Amino acid sequence: MEPRFSVVVPVYNEADNLDTLHARLGQVMAGLGGDYELLFVDDGSQDGSAERLQALHGKDRHVRVLRLSRNFGHHLAITAGLDRCRGQRVVLMDADLQDAPEAIPVLNAKLEDGFDMVYAERDRSADGAFKRWTSRALTAVLRALLRDGGTLSTSLFRIMTRQVVDEVCRCREHTRFVNNVFAWVGFRQTSVPVSRAARHGGRSKYGLLRMLKLAWMGLAGSSNLPLQLATIAGCAVSVLAVLVAGASLLGAGDAEGSRVAQLEPAILLFVAGVQLLCLGMVGGYVGRVFTESRARPLYIVAQHLDTPEREGDDAREA
Ligand code: UDP
Ligand code: MG
Repeated sequence: MEPRFSVVVPVYNEADNLDTLHARLGQVMAGLGGDYELLFVDDGSQDGSAERLQALHGKDRHVRVLRLSRNFGHHLAITAGLDRCRGQRVVLMDADLQDAPEAIPVLNAKLEDGFDMVYAERDRSADGAFKRWTSRALTAVLRALLRDGGTLSTSLFRIMTRQVVDEVCRCREHTRFVNNVFAWVGFRQTSVPVSRAARHGGRSKYGLLRMLKLAWMGLAGSSNLPLQLATIAGCAVSVLAVLVAGASLLGAGDAEGSRVAQLEPAILLFVAGVQLLCLGMVGGYVGRVFTESRARPLYIVAQHLDTPEREGDDAREA
């Protein structure tokens, strides 16, 4: 029998949070009724999270642990969890207690109102100013550019039906931003406002560089818009060239020489800059084609600590 609920939790160096998370999750899930599994995906942690998870697996039959062979990143860890979870309804949440387990019944109640996916719309008051600003900018840019429907959210805390999870799992791109996949699959989606706590322990793994990388992945992962921008930039620079040529001709008789001529090095550098930028952008897409064409597995599971009564199910699934 499949459990009624799965809770999928990606874990990367969260040793300080796991016991509290497990205790709070246990209480909430017991209150919901029906069987459940807690599927922790250890994304190559080096801080003792693996040992903590093993201990939890030893004392609670609801706990399953997938240990990945190294750090594959948040979004691939989530993918591994979604691939292997077995519940009829699947909750996805972070391990750092920013997503409050106590909000799960609220999400679930909304799902029962006839939706297929309910995500937590973040109330951002507890985040730092930097984090708030980068997340908001990321959502705004992606929403404006992708037009994948109004449901794109930077929050991953959500509950979904088995049908949605199965469709999400059919999307197998390597360079992935799972938020895009969730928005893309469609179905009846809605959100409920959920306040987001500060991190319980440890530190965020997302600095500015990682946020920028994520934004680029989100954009290039589901849109050819940057390539079209290259064409637009090409047109703009060509128009500029005509204007400069005109100005040069007009100023040719000046005694001091043309002002435009003085600008020549700057213009040259500008054009070279635009060209390199476009080349880099095209290179980004070529790189993605390369990554996809290698067709490697998305992640590698080094160890699976299964729930006792279901040991061996995976071998049959595979
Ligand atoms: N995470 C992961 N792999 C990584 C980075 C993060 O599995 O390479 C997990 C992390 O343990 C947490 C979740 O993804 O459960 C979100 O990470 P974090 O809290 O650092 O992100 P933030 O909340 O700052 O956006
Ligand atoms: Mg966090």
